[in-house]
Amino acid sequence: ERQNWAQLVNAPSVSKNGQRFAIEANIGNPDDVADATRQGADGVGLFRSEFLYMGSDHMPTEEEQFTAYRQAVTGMGGKPVVVRTLDIGGDKPLPYLPLPREMNPFLGYRAIRISLKHPDMFKTQLRALIRASQFGPLSIMFPMIGTIAELRAAEKIFNECRSELQADQPGLGDDIKLGMMIEVPLAAINADQFAKEVDFFSIGTNDLIQYSFAADRGNDAVADLYQPLNPAFLGVIQHVIDAGHRHNTKVAMCGEMAGDRLALPLLMGMGLDEYSMSASSILRTRMMMSKLDTQKCSDLVNEAVNNCVTNEEVEQLVRDRLANN
Ligand code: PEP
Ligand code: MG
Repeated sequence: ERQNWAQLVNAPSVSKNGQRFAIEANIGNPDDVADATRQGADGVGLFRSEFLYMGSDHMPTEEEQFTAYRQAVTGMGGKPVVVRTLDIGGDKPLPYLPLPREMNPFLGYRAIRISLKHPDMFKTQLRALIRASQFGPLSIMFPMIGTIAELRAAEKIFNECRSELQADQPGLGDDIKLGMMIEVPLAAINADQFAKEVDFFSIGTNDLIQYSFAADRGNDAVADLYQPLNPAFLGVIQHVIDAGHRHNTKVAMCGEMAGDRLALPLLMGMGLDEYSMSASSILRTRMMMSKLDTQKCSDLVNEAVNNCVTNEEVEQLVRDRLANN
């Protein structure tokens, strides 16, 4: 088995019946790229840029950020890298940017909401990203988008930055793909509209589950409401994937669910394109994917959604099916 795993490092991510997917790494630091490559990542599906800000005693400069993004992009040697713009607030404070204390930080001032209110800070990050895109395929994704107005405001600032940089360097950043996290329930519901306006979606299940079940993701007292396999929630995921595909928008997932072994056959059955997870889960997932047939997975999804009512029932169904596979 160990030898098989070593061979899997350079193997494509493909189902038993030959359908291609991408299995990518979540990273929090450009140094993580070495490990992602070692584990055979098809790319970086989520580069959380918070570390740059949280690990610093000052607002990171454009130059500091450029260096970090370039390191990640070059380190991946031509494989795609998706960088998420700053997602602070909520549970992640910043020492040098005083934020108000809040009763409900997860429902408060965080992520894109902060970036849009601090355009200078946002522009510094976007300029660094646009400049880094000359060194390899780079995509930018916005966190916590809930409304079309927020998305358009973010894209407007991105376009301003790109035009400014193109005055000196024509064509710079023209290949950048823009995407958004799907982690606010309204964005999931409104996925058809959003799909017309972005190049890709990445479903952030950690937050999408927290907000869908109205259960704080860090509170043990409500941990039993973390139910990725709840059939109603699977319906939400299916809707997002179908909406994306109706508009030729690739759909990825970068929350914990993407690396969950019981979720994998269901996500493959629903047609999810890209799976981004901690690097240590990549080979196990690729191995498992190679043994699953997408048509059978799709039948499994129908069974789960039509015959099951609870998270536990779906769990049992998938366990039984995997055991008899
Ligand atoms: C998510 O919400 O699923 C996600 C990937 O983002 P984070 O865990 O950083 O909030
Ligand atoms: Mg999130």
